[in-house]
Amino acid sequence: MPRRLPDILPIEWPENDPAPPPSTDEALDRAVVLIRSGGLVAIPTETVYGLATDALDSESVDRIFRAKGRPATNPLIVHVADQAMAQSLASAWPAVAEAITSHFWPGPVTVVVPKHRDVPDIVTAGGPTVALRCPAHRLTRRLIERSGYPLAAPSANRSESLSPTRAAHVLESLGDRVDLILDGGPCPHGIESTVVDCTTSPPQILRPGPIGRAALEAVIGGPLAVGSVDTAPASAEPARTPGSHARHYAPRTPLELTADAPTRVAELLRTGKRIGWLALRPTDPAVRALAASHDLVVVPMPDEPAAFAAAIYATLHALDHRDLDRIICDVPPATEPWHAIHDRLTRAASPT
Ligand code: AMP
Ligand code: MG
Repeated sequence: MPRRLPDILPIEWPENDPAPPPSTDEALDRAVVLIRSGGLVAIPTETVYGLATDALDSESVDRIFRAKGRPATNPLIVHVADQAMAQSLASAWPAVAEAITSHFWPGPVTVVVPKHRDVPDIVTAGGPTVALRCPAHRLTRRLIERSGYPLAAPSANRSESLSPTRAAHVLESLGDRVDLILDGGPCPHGIESTVVDCTTSPPQILRPGPIGRAALEAVIGGPLAVGSVDTAPASAEPARTPGSHARHYAPRTPLELTADAPTRVAELLRTGKRIGWLALRPTDPAVRALAASHDLVVVPMPDEPAAFAAAIYATLHALDHRDLDRIICDVPPATEPWHAIHDRLTRAASPT
């Protein structure tokens, strides 16, 4: 018998209210019951939606890997309510982790530290380190506090596909593989957290994200190394920076990044292809000249990196439903604020 689709429960906490409305607390209560019995709950965060369960229970965590089709070699980020909970999961707390978490938590940066023996091996893919993050979303922190457990939570999507930034994306990707979806609305940052390995000297950015290198270096008071982008295709072999598999975060429709989109779009239209164009300069005469074609969908994209990041996954999800042959994206500027976006787009454009 097919399992039933999960309920999607709206949760909210208006800015100036001292407590969330009763309906939100009831939704959190249901989530807590599910998590305590080994269930999988999709949760909103400020980055993307996460697929959460009790991080300290190997069987629950195994369900995450199976639901996502995630290779066992790709470790999970553990979400905590505060710095104290983070330290309880670490066997050592490097000064760099202290500096980063004191300054940026709750927020979109993950620290990799030596793991405490209580953290199951399945969470860390058998490795000696654990990745920890305290999310900015108030209701997600309330859920962690109420459940009493740290929550292992990778992005709530099938492995290698687009990350979800709306509750509907979770349902579309995971369907009955998730037990409950908490709908907190669109994720404000829209791309995954920055990941910093605090166990190396110098510390290293393993995955660029919403918190940029300059801001981190200012807080650490020294230089950070930046992991090189792995250009090999995803494979079963253990990776030091698993999220760095070349293909990741990809739409079903093939995506191309190009510095000369007008020429490329015109060329593809001539061969009868249906094209979606993520245009950074939508008012360009070159865009206008092509936009009359019935086979072209032009999506104007924000030319400011934070707004672009907030929109990118939802835009790709939407274009995946338009029956297109190709998505063309203007290459974003090569400046540091665009670094994380560049990283995600490059992976999304990487061939299968
Ligand atoms: P996601 O699948 O979006 O939750 O991404 C989780 C990412 O966190 C992985 O792809 C890794 O890059 C990173 N990560 C988690 N645990 C570790 C760890 N122990 N060491 C290094 N990176 C980690
Ligand atoms: Mg992911």
